[in-house]
Amino acid sequence: MPFAIHELVYRAVEAASVRPQGIKLPTAVPCRRRKCNGYLTVLTLDDTIEWCCPECDDSGCISSWKGGDSDLSEFADDDLDKPGVEALLSPYEYALINLPCGATLHAPRLVASAVHERGRIVLRGSSDEFGNLKTGIAEDLPNIKGQKKRVLNDLIAYLSVLEAVQQ
Ligand SMILES: [Zn+2]
Repeated sequence: MPFAIHELVYRAVEAASVRPQGIKLPTAVPCRRRKCNGYLTVLTLDDTIEWCCPECDDSGCISSWKGGDSDLSEFADDDLDKPGVEALLSPYEYALINLPCGATLHAPRLVASAVHERGRIVLRGSSDEFGNLKTGIAEDLPNIKGQKKRVLNDLIAYLSVLEAVQQ
């Protein structure tokens, strides 16, 4: 599912703004090139976010992102080593929770800081964040039909398990 450039920029800013500056970090944002299976890395240096696809070397710089809709820095967490719970999602499941919906509003840091690892999308966060994500998905469910609804119902069951994990 390649992204148009405006969507790529939007998602790269979300992913970069919730995490520390000055370190190149992996994301769950897919490369926009049709035949590339890469996922972007982002590096925030002051007012600029540099994004790059390690597979095909497509790259760019984003400036004047602060204060925009995709700037999630108010939810940022700079501690990358904090203990937490980990969820493994398929790229399809992750794309579904990234549609404009309650899931991202309820757990913005959790969703935006996801990382692609060996074919899966890894979400790391507190059990509270997973509970919030579950609430957001459940709120959207009445408006969703068919296969997407089945996938999201399974995801809610999975998130319920993670929500109950004691840290
Ligand atoms: Zn690429």
